[in-house]
Amino acid sequence: MDLRALLREIPDVPKPGILFFDITPLLGDGVAFRKAIDTFAERFADKGATKVVCAEARGFIFGAALAYKLGIGFVPVRKPGKLPWKTASVTYDLEYGTDTLCMHEDALLHGEKVLVIDDVLATGGTLTGMLQLMKNFEAEIVGIGILVELCFLNGRDKLNGLPLDSIIQIS
Ligand code: 5GP
Repeated sequence: MDLRALLREIPDVPKPGILFFDITPLLGDGVAFRKAIDTFAERFADKGATKVVCAEARGFIFGAALAYKLGIGFVPVRKPGKLPWKTASVTYDLEYGTDTLCMHEDALLHGEKVLVIDDVLATGGTLTGMLQLMKNFEAEIVGIGILVELCFLNGRDKLNGLPLDSIIQIS
């Protein structure tokens, strides 16, 4: 099944000059969506992970399904003001400005093994922020899974060699 063929390319979204890769056609195809989750599950099944950590909102779609498939916990990473309990947070640089991500401070136990999952890796800003946030916890990142890697933006280079596994690569 060609998952790449189910990405819709939309020029000038969200602003002029940006080509946006819309994943909703893939999500809307039950066989394709299952294939994406099963592919993540196959790649990460032997990592001993105990939690999947994902940022809102699109990351939740894949992370929650993967956590269910692997029978492990799901941890939401959200924008400020959304989580009801005490949070750890990180503010990280974007191309223009900054952004903040939060996670419940008791979301991960000491020594837990974590999979970080997201839909798209573009510049790598979001993922770098997530990895910075994870430093507040004594957890081990055993895998990073991305559905669509926009290779031409070189986001992978920001990961300092951490292994990243993408299902679809756009060059
Ligand atoms: P980055 O921080 O790597 O520049 O951007 C990654 C985040 O922005 C991802 O969490 C993703 O949801 C969103 N994103 C950036 N570019 C695209 C795109 O072309 N398509 C989709 N679906 N999301 C994108």
